[in-house]
Amino acid sequence: MARELVMGRAGARSFFGRLIEEGPVMGPRERISQPGFVMFDWLDSAEQLRLEYTTTTIPPKKAFFPPRQPLFEFELSEPPKITTVQEFSAFTLVGVHPCDLAALEMLDDAYAQEPAEACWPASRARARVIGVDCLPDEYCFCFGIGTCYSREGADLFLTPIDEGYLVEVLTEAGGDMLRLSDVEDADDADHEQAAAFRRTKSERMTASIDASPAEFADILEEGDFGELWREVASRCYSCGSCNTTCPTCFCFDIKDEFDLGLTGGRRIRSWDSCQLQEFALVAGGHNFRRIRWQRVRHRWHRKFLYLFRDFGRPYCTGCGRCSRACTADINIVDVSNEIIGRARGRA
Ligand code: SF4
Ligand code: SF4
Repeated sequence: MARELVMGRAGARSFFGRLIEEGPVMGPRERISQPGFVMFDWLDSAEQLRLEYTTTTIPPKKAFFPPRQPLFEFELSEPPKITTVQEFSAFTLVGVHPCDLAALEMLDDAYAQEPAEACWPASRARARVIGVDCLPDEYCFCFGIGTCYSREGADLFLTPIDEGYLVEVLTEAGGDMLRLSDVEDADDADHEQAAAFRRTKSERMTASIDASPAEFADILEEGDFGELWREVASRCYSCGSCNTTCPTCFCFDIKDEFDLGLTGGRRIRSWDSCQLQEFALVAGGHNFRRIRWQRVRHRWHRKFLYLFRDFGRPYCTGCGRCSRACTADINIVDVSNEIIGRARGRA
């Protein structure tokens, strides 16, 4: 069992202040242009850290793989010259919710598939991670999908209690971070308060997918939901926001950008979306998913069928970001339950 300590609020402020003095720290902070909205960004001071937040629009995977990432610069000289521009310096990522911890682990597995991707593990290896527990809104469904209590990949995990936080020390690196910190051993009352927080979290969760991941995968594999995919696609704009806000989507595109003089440039990789029309376009002009409903169907099959078969768990954490971001109000839980309902109605 992880060692459990208590850190008071003042102690937490000085702990995070010290981390920020020691090296780069990314965490949830209020958006300057949109007060009330929280985003993951680099912190200048502990006062900027907002540990009590519902969710962010863009998930913390951006700490390891930014939406737009230069890979190298090139010069078309003789011989051509390539300069690597990636930086892999150490940093600390704080304030990661359980569902987002699970997502990072899912991306570890996905990027490790052969041929393994090199940048993600290099970036992950340089970071320490501090998780924090949270309370849901009406879009969250992590309880049913099994990520509500994830601790995967966290060095420390904080649960709010009256005095401050119950701190689970999950790794040696986590213990090292607490050196010089004002902490004390947790007692029974602290444990009970943390347990009560977790109970409140699960009791407040109103959304859920009405089938186990295994049953849902079978339903998607065996059923013919062409009519439903067309209904959903008739509302979908193919904007890709559901993918670009998703903590478990891992597809990317690579493009070369040339300088105006055409003597050199840089190779950039950026997040991609299977909902964009050109995503499955290949040389010769053929598009494997030219029609919108095919892309909508693909998203559900990818999340809940193909990757479930590959990795034994759905590639969805129940964070609800895709539903919050969708301007067409296409809600992943509602659509999933409609599929399940139609399948059971037919059975
Ligand atoms: S965010 Fe909504 S409208 Fe945009 S591609 Fe996804 S489902 Fe379609
Ligand atoms: S599919 Fe939607 S709910 Fe699931 S992890 Fe991605 S953004 Fe979150």
